Amino acid sequence: MFAYTMTTHERPLDSVLEAVGRTPLVAVQAGPDSVPIYAKLESFNPGASVKDRIGVYMLETMLERGDVEPGGTVIEPTAGNTGIGFAIAARQLGLDAIFVVPERFSVEKQQLMAALGAEIINTPTDDGMGGAIDRAHQLAEELDDAVVPQQFANPLNTEAHYETTGPEIYEAVDGEVGAVVAGCGTAGTLMGIARYAREQDPDTYVGAVEPEGSLYGEFLDEPREEGEYKTEGIGTHNTDTNELFEPDLVDDVYAIPDERAQEELKRLAAEEGHLVASSAGAASVAARHVARKIDSGEIEAPHDSVVTVFPDSSERYLSKGIYRSFEEWAG
Ligand code: PMP
Repeated sequence: MFAYTMTTHERPLDSVLEAVGRTPLVAVQAGPDSVPIYAKLESFNPGASVKDRIGVYMLETMLERGDVEPGGTVIEPTAGNTGIGFAIAARQLGLDAIFVVPERFSVEKQQLMAALGAEIINTPTDDGMGGAIDRAHQLAEELDDAVVPQQFANPLNTEAHYETTGPEIYEAVDGEVGAVVAGCGTAGTLMGIARYAREQDPDTYVGAVEPEGSLYGEFLDEPREEGEYKTEGIGTHNTDTNELFEPDLVDDVYAIPDERAQEELKRLAAEEGHLVASSAGAASVAARHVARKIDSGEIEAPHDSVVTVFPDSSERYLSKGIYRSFEEWAG
């Protein structure tokens, strides 16, 4: 018999919105024995990613505040997971949803957003996330009662994780968190957890993760060379758009090459049963690095443990060849 404990929900729930959050925190086994690593498995959310959290939290708060009325429209520039999270919450809360998505992002995500009742508008890959943001604001001006939550700039994004993800992690490990390591797309996930963590203990080590070729490191005056990357959901080509990133909350920014991220996501599946995608692979590489440095004394942390976040599932990227050779995935 295996030990069975109810980690998520014990009673029937009235809607999928109530199934958002309270995801499992599971050990990553490949770390040093004396410094356990735990990953928050965000694919357990109904929309199968970390972004369900901001969907519910931001839209509920915006309706409460009167930023948008029931029957209004939510327009958001998004790489995909945010669209899915917002689409689920929007329909359940009586809002319409339109998403502006740069073309390079996965077709699975775009199909799911459409299935959830949202409208999708693609912008050219070359215009980057900046192009999608501009287009979203343009559309909002053309419509009555439309609002752009703007996950890249809205403090409610960080707040969602400060209110939910952070406390859930601390509850699960009885407050014994030495380091927090997570990927940064908008940086809402890491900033929310980091703010909560530093309130619990100001010495908590915080590591941000980006793909090699991304420019987040420039926030900490680290040299960076801009380049293309395949790792999806994290990184930035223009730090002006990342308004939520607070350098004071971050000790180091780790730039992980695509190849390492893919190697690790394959290892996580083959050895540990985690069906996670490239941003989780990158986070795991960085978390293991930080755990080794805590173990060797190079990083001083208030506890011998590292917590990271696995934001979504590899199933969302099968069409991109995520489990094929590096050349086939990256090609
Ligand atoms: N991984 C994936 C797959 C994502 O979609 C996102 C969101 N863009 C992240 C990581 C990063 O989350 P955040 O925007 O909160 O930094």
